[in-house]
Amino acid sequence: MRVAQTTQELADELKGSRPAFVPTMGALHGGHLALISRAKQLARNGTRVAVSIFVNPTQFGPGEDYQRYPRMLEADATAAGLAGADVIFAPSVEAVYPQQRRDLARVPRLPEVATQPKLEDAHRPGHFAGVCQVVARLFDMVGPSVAVFGEKDYQQLRVIEEMVKQETDRWPGLKIERHPTVREPDGLAMSSRNAYLHQEQRADALAISRALMLARNANSPREAEQNMQEILQWHRLAVDYAVVRDARTLMPIEEFGVPARALIAARLVNVRLIDNMAAGGGETKDPHAGS
Ligand code: AMP
Repeated sequence: MRVAQTTQELADELKGSRPAFVPTMGALHGGHLALISRAKQLARNGTRVAVSIFVNPTQFGPGEDYQRYPRMLEADATAAGLAGADVIFAPSVEAVYPQQRRDLARVPRLPEVATQPKLEDAHRPGHFAGVCQVVARLFDMVGPSVAVFGEKDYQQLRVIEEMVKQETDRWPGLKIERHPTVREPDGLAMSSRNAYLHQEQRADALAISRALMLARNANSPREAEQNMQEILQWHRLAVDYAVVRDARTLMPIEEFGVPARALIAARLVNVRLIDNMAAGGGETKDPHAGS
């Protein structure tokens, strides 16, 4: 599998075509590989599948896990190739944010869904500025026709969808494709950070997907939130948030009636996990849902 490290090497691989693109931070698991397979399905008539592997320093806050984030480029390239990738783009920090061209690192205007809901935006200040900065930069460098993102990072997905809507002139015709969250057989959402969990933490982490499943069948958002809090606390998780929100705006709702999403962020000692699911039977009603 060819690994391009510079924009020039990537351009040589793509030969002017607009690829189907999957941006990742590496340490690839089944969730990432499902996104790559989806990109492969979408890539018709010789469209290539490009996968980026870049641990973006600007989306990590002080004290977060940037330094210890797992890095395994060779194994990732092999796995991505088997899943359908044609080219891996693994740029250096200097290639993404050249010292001489600070203008290239400009952060796009953040959509409201990146600043108003008080979810990841409140708990990881600066995170979405970093995410929008790197995704915009990668879109500029890769020039995709379609990019696949996972519902696992639901607020991020909504932020990217809105950013692309705001910047139609910058990325004409670019389509954002949603992919449902891929889970372990026991329900735990796959995540590169699961590797940090010890065995008994792994068992407690299951409370997150269980709580989200309970939220599906609750009669009201308030009831769903109470049920989620209870099960998370019982399993000794430190809850950042466990809420039911409007699936589009991610703002609070009083009743089910609009498509709704239950979202959880919780910590087990020093491992922070996030997950989400459609709530109140909203999956089929959500016009934005990928499947
Ligand atoms: P990351 O490497 O964590 O930045 O994730 C890269 C992409 O993979 C993002 O679009 C994530 O939402 C997506 N992703 C991560 N975990 C999963 C999962 N378990 N199921 C589906 N997509 C995922």
